[in-house]
Amino acid sequence: MAGRTFLAIPGPTNIPDSVLAAFRRPAVDFGTDEFAAFTNELWADLEALFGAHRVMAYPSVGHGAWEATLNNLLEPGDAFLLPQNGLFATRWADMATANGFSPQPIEVDIRRAPDPALIYDALVADTAHSLVGVFVAHTETSAGTLANLAAIREAIDAAGHPGLFVVDAIASFATDPVPMADIGIDVVLASSQKGLMMPPGLSFSAVSQRALERNARVATPRSFFSWSERIDPEWVYQRFGGTPPVQHLFALREAVDLIHAEGGIDAVCARHYRFATAARACFDEWGDGFEINATELPEQASAVTCIRAPGMVADHISIEEVLRTAHDEFGVAASHAMSELRTKAFRVGHLGDMNEPMLLGALAGIECAFRRHGVAHHSGLEAAMASLTTNDSAGHTGNDLNSGSVSYL
Ligand SMILES: *Cc1c(COP(=O)(O)O)cnc(C)c1O
Repeated sequence: MAGRTFLAIPGPTNIPDSVLAAFRRPAVDFGTDEFAAFTNELWADLEALFGAHRVMAYPSVGHGAWEATLNNLLEPGDAFLLPQNGLFATRWADMATANGFSPQPIEVDIRRAPDPALIYDALVADTAHSLVGVFVAHTETSAGTLANLAAIREAIDAAGHPGLFVVDAIASFATDPVPMADIGIDVVLASSQKGLMMPPGLSFSAVSQRALERNARVATPRSFFSWSERIDPEWVYQRFGGTPPVQHLFALREAVDLIHAEGGIDAVCARHYRFATAARACFDEWGDGFEINATELPEQASAVTCIRAPGMVADHISIEEVLRTAHDEFGVAASHAMSELRTKAFRVGHLGDMNEPMLLGALAGIECAFRRHGVAHHSGLEAAMASLTTNDSAGHTGNDLNSGSVSYL
């Protein structure tokens, strides 16, 4: 097929040409002063971008950041809250259990964000303060939902609980605001292949001073993923637990520069909200046969929308085949849904390196596949164009509707 396939999956995301080009730079000697200076400068920018005290990096996919964060903060048997808002939260909990820790689930409707009031109740009930903290998937990529970080922070404070606040922002970093310094988040996890517009292979735990204080007390055996040498490395090798992933770092430099050039992370999040708003205008227009999984606007992630398709299920039209047609004939990669939604829903990613024609092209390609398969729908392209050219999303820095406070009295 001529032209590019438009990636509308929630990761890996489209890679800008300048980021790809960074991978073509020749190998360098990482032991030079020049490379150390390059890395230190990049790290200062990264710490500012996260609002973090320190940033740990691992040459690894996001699962590595998950495991590293668990093993650096928890001791065997330690309990912590982990709301079950979807498949990623479940997989993280399973990993914690496999590592000998004790995640305590908070039930979440798959169409909603975690309820801060339930988190509050669980923390208040923990009078001995034995829970290490609250770990939460911010954008739950499987469901397209967005947790309310400010409200969860309020819940922790209102309960008077000293626990840590740990956020999986793998899909939300640089797509919706993750106000680490502003509200006080202790660890923010990220990975290269989502909002950072890079290939997979580099993941991060951005940490607060409090997280490091706990880390220093936690005696859990760990080696490669240990933070101790990464905190204040004497030389660049220690930052990565081995040979620095040189080309990934060149690419990361470029990605951070692109974020700065766009006007900073707030501007990047504002673009994501604008595109998510346009995409949802399209999906709403499709009609009764479709429903956005996340029922409340403030809980809809700017990175990805999960769309239920009860009309296709009723008409016995295979979602998988429609997605295959979108890909093979119309050059658009959208994504199947996960676990119990797998045959009932699909997902459209609108994150990373994306502009208006890429978004509109992706929506149009999906509608072409609908036509090919006789899927009952009204075209939403007009609504998406109207949304992009009017002020539907003006004044929003990402989904900042999602910071309403909750009363606990
Ligand atoms: C993608 C994703 C992960 C897993 O990242 P990998 O790089 O595939 O290990 C974890 N959590 C969330 C919320 C994600 O979107």
